[in-house]
Amino acid sequence: MTDHEGAWQSGGCHCGAVRFRVFVAGAKAIACNCSICAKKGMVNLIVTSEQFELIDGAASLSTYQFNTRAARHKFCKHCGIHPFSHPRSHPDGYDVNARCLDGGCDHFEVEGFDGQNWEASVASIQSPR
Ligand SMILES: [Zn+2]
Repeated sequence: MTDHEGAWQSGGCHCGAVRFRVFVAGAKAIACNCSICAKKGMVNLIVTSEQFELIDGAASLSTYQFNTRAARHKFCKHCGIHPFSHPRSHPDGYDVNARCLDGGCDHFEVEGFDGQNWEASVASIQSPR
């Protein structure tokens, strides 16, 4: 895959109950230093609702919220893995955990995001990429 063409990639939680596919448009992902991304080891791929499809497992997903409760962090009730969220920065979109992609996330170029200073940093990920 080049930077100029996208492709649908499949992924899921650890036990396999939750399966999804996401349209990956480029080779860049985001590593965020906020309290929850740091603990999850998240590698974030932020996409629109048109670029994400939940294939299986809606009934296996639970939601974790904290602080402003704006983000809805989805996790599998069976295995505890967090495959995606509806992020505070893109409430109508998806923040996919690239670590849950079947192909892994080692091929992404990972950029830092200062989620500890979210208000000051958020514009950098809300502008078109
Ligand atoms: Zn699971």
